Amino acid sequence: MEKIGVWMTCPMSSYLEEQIDKRFGLFRPWQASSKHDFLRENRNSIRAVVGNTEFGADSELVDSLPNLEIVSTYSVGLDKIDLRKCEERGIRVTNTPDVLTDDVADVAIGLALATMRKICVCDRYVRSGLWKNGNFELTTKFSGKSVGIIGLGRIGSAIAKRAEAFGCPISYNSRSEKPHPNYKYYSNVVDLAKNSQILIVACCLTEETRHIVNREVINALGSKGVIVNIGRGPLIDEPELVSALLEGRLGGAGLDVFENEPEVPKELFGLENVVLLPHVGSDSVETCRAMADLVIRNLEAYFRSKPLLTPVI
Ligand code: NAP
Repeated sequence: MEKIGVWMTCPMSSYLEEQIDKRFGLFRPWQASSKHDFLRENRNSIRAVVGNTEFGADSELVDSLPNLEIVSTYSVGLDKIDLRKCEERGIRVTNTPDVLTDDVADVAIGLALATMRKICVCDRYVRSGLWKNGNFELTTKFSGKSVGIIGLGRIGSAIAKRAEAFGCPISYNSRSEKPHPNYKYYSNVVDLAKNSQILIVACCLTEETRHIVNREVINALGSKGVIVNIGRGPLIDEPELVSALLEGRLGGAGLDVFENEPEVPKELFGLENVVLLPHVGSDSVETCRAMADLVIRNLEAYFRSKPLLTPVI
């Protein structure tokens, strides 16, 4: 029987590649001398796309695959998928929610701690031998600080739970108010920032949320405030963030994601009140394995005409 063609947009996990290859016919465009020709030659055989946070299923890819039936993304975020086009064509879409929630929430708290307690700067201080010349400067306490979360979804809620354990009062902004009597809801992000010492960005990237953190929000958070972004880079107006940090209008930032990854504004490299991560929120061995298994189980379910495990559409 002819194998079902699965187009993987870029290398993302060798385990996932192996497992897809065992069960389906895997197309690896990054190994072809011309991705364009490879796609043209195989377009009719491809029935599924596996994408990620870097390369998803944009309108160009969807348009070029006449027999595409399902997009199973190795991510919870859907911002690299043309959902409207998939819906119009009746193409099913699945993602990897829940299995990565704990890891991303852990990293959010880690970024807040690392930024405020200057953990990375302290590490460099010890390694470079500076400790012998004197003790490190005092840093800023994290426990008990007011935390504002943009997007109280799966990850935002897991961050809130962790921050509560640090004695932090929690406020949030989401599209709708949640039944959380201990968390204060703000329908407006500026008001949330005004009433928070740490602002954690954990919502999805959509047309409405692009630059949800703009100059006004940054100024409302103020010169002692700290921003943590584990959502997506374009949720923050990056040039505004950089200028606020350079001008001292913002106290610090812990960033896992950036507007033009893997490009990071060079102005940030010299700042000690900033912690920079290369988009690794969900990148633990355990979680990546669980994400890969979920991608495969969704593909198998679809092609066996069973219900999808984590359907988006
Ligand atoms: P989720 O459960 O769907 O939560 C998304 C949240 O965004 C919801 O609370 C939603 O509000 C909120 N939201 C949507 N539109 C909004 C708007 N216009 N204004 C304010 N809030 C809005 O998704 P999740 O699993 O928590 O994941 C959240 C995001 O984290 C993903 O989309 C992805 O971009 C990012 N992520 C990053 C990494 C990483 O490695 N750094 C890893 C995984 C995920 P309502 O609840 O009111 O609808």
